[in-house]
Amino acid sequence: MPNPTGIHHITAVAGNPQQNLDFYSGLLGLRLVKKTVNFDDPSTYHLFYGNAEGRPGSILSFFTSSQVAQGEPDTGSGVAVGLSIPTTSVDFWTDYLSTHNVDFVDPFERFGKLVIGFQDPDGLYLELIGNPAANKKEETGSSSVPAEHAIRGLHGITLAEENYQATGQLLTESLGFKEVTQEHDRILYQSNTDLGGSVELIDNPKLDGKPGKGTVHHIAFRANDKNDQQSIRQNLLGIGYHLTETEDRYYFKSFFFHEPGGALLEVATNSPGFTVDEHTDTLGEDLSLPPKLERKRALIEANLPNLAPVN
Ligand code: ZN
Repeated sequence: MPNPTGIHHITAVAGNPQQNLDFYSGLLGLRLVKKTVNFDDPSTYHLFYGNAEGRPGSILSFFTSSQVAQGEPDTGSGVAVGLSIPTTSVDFWTDYLSTHNVDFVDPFERFGKLVIGFQDPDGLYLELIGNPAANKKEETGSSSVPAEHAIRGLHGITLAEENYQATGQLLTESLGFKEVTQEHDRILYQSNTDLGGSVELIDNPKLDGKPGKGTVHHIAFRANDKNDQQSIRQNLLGIGYHLTETEDRYYFKSFFFHEPGGALLEVATNSPGFTVDEHTDTLGEDLSLPPKLERKRALIEANLPNLAPVN
């Protein structure tokens, strides 16, 4: 049984990269902790947002491309991204979203926490969740939102599943989560970490969506180190999952697989992290490229759209 780990990062698909940056960094106040390219398509940005050091559990990232078609939430995929705010910051955020003309669903209680639901400019469903674990003071790197109210990192992911039990079994037997409780058609799974520790499964919501901008691309779970990752890998292989090779993705080592319902999952190491090629103070300021793409930097930069920094 692997150690409890939690979510390392969530990656979603976005359209215009400037619009994405303006929303997540400019409006929501997350720190852009890495500006790089999609390693499989270096003509497009991969933007990573997080807390001050970009630590695992705080990371929400986007493959951005103005060419990509509109997607819709589907069964067998992540359908909402949860972000942790302090429990005392719910009123601040409803006022703040109103002031900035962002439509939202009035706060409601789910699993004992207050949830504010809204969508990003591409239609991705987001939830700000008042989380006691987010009450402790933490460097957020936020600029536009007062530090006391800033988003602390991920709360978790909601997955829509035709057969939630099979996915639940994966979470509890291979990924270090515990089944906690159920409300209506939702089942809550929790790992013992403060950020990115929740997975909620919706039982058979009969969605008929499709991939594209505004949808979750994959969810990465944390491995403490290479040995921990290897034990998770052996466990999954033993159950019969098909896994990609473990590859060096510069900021972490990871492999991918599909959970029983179809969603793409990843298992990523905590190290070396986003400070491997930039100082903490200047994370995200310049275009970062892994060594294999560095020699093509001039060509890559020439093909990328301009991205104006916020503030
Ligand atoms: Zn990933």
